[in-house]
Amino acid sequence: MTRKMKAILVLFFAAEIINSVKVGVLKSRIADLETQRDIYASRAQHWIDRAVEDEEVIDSMQLRLDALADGKVKLEDAGVFFCTAYCTEQYPHICGEGHGITASGQPIQTGVTVAADQSIFPYGTVLYIEGVGIRIVQDKGAGVQGTHIDVAVDTHENALAWSGYGEHQVWILKGE
Ligand SMILES: [Zn+2]
Repeated sequence: MTRKMKAILVLFFAAEIINSVKVGVLKSRIADLETQRDIYASRAQHWIDRAVEDEEVIDSMQLRLDALADGKVKLEDAGVFFCTAYCTEQYPHICGEGHGITASGQPIQTGVTVAADQSIFPYGTVLYIEGVGIRIVQDKGAGVQGTHIDVAVDTHENALAWSGYGEHQVWILKGE
């Protein structure tokens, strides 16, 4: 074998090695992208699920509001209540045991659930809390007595920083 042929062979193998490294890099890049795509797909699905849930909540509230407009639902003045917030995060901490189920057996829901004194508002009572919105009494708490309503929000951070802390006028929504 001449020196020239050897040099060509070395170059040829070097090119092969470089190519195989490139293929390896590309394969792992594809694998990374596939993982990323799956993560984004599952996130997208999560947000779609959230949107559908939110829409169902909005629909059911809209129905109540429509009924209110039709005079089928009456507002009964319940007085002024002190509102605080607790979160729906699912781990045991100051807000609750974190299993996602309220004392009434209903799942805890941001935008729906409030805790109240059972002797004042039994479970299932639908409230309109001025500045907060329509909520349903589904929970109770050792610290939730008398004219105190604890409103479920999504995260613990948001519970701590809740803008609704304080006194609110409350009405009971009653169907015919
Ligand atoms: Zn919390």
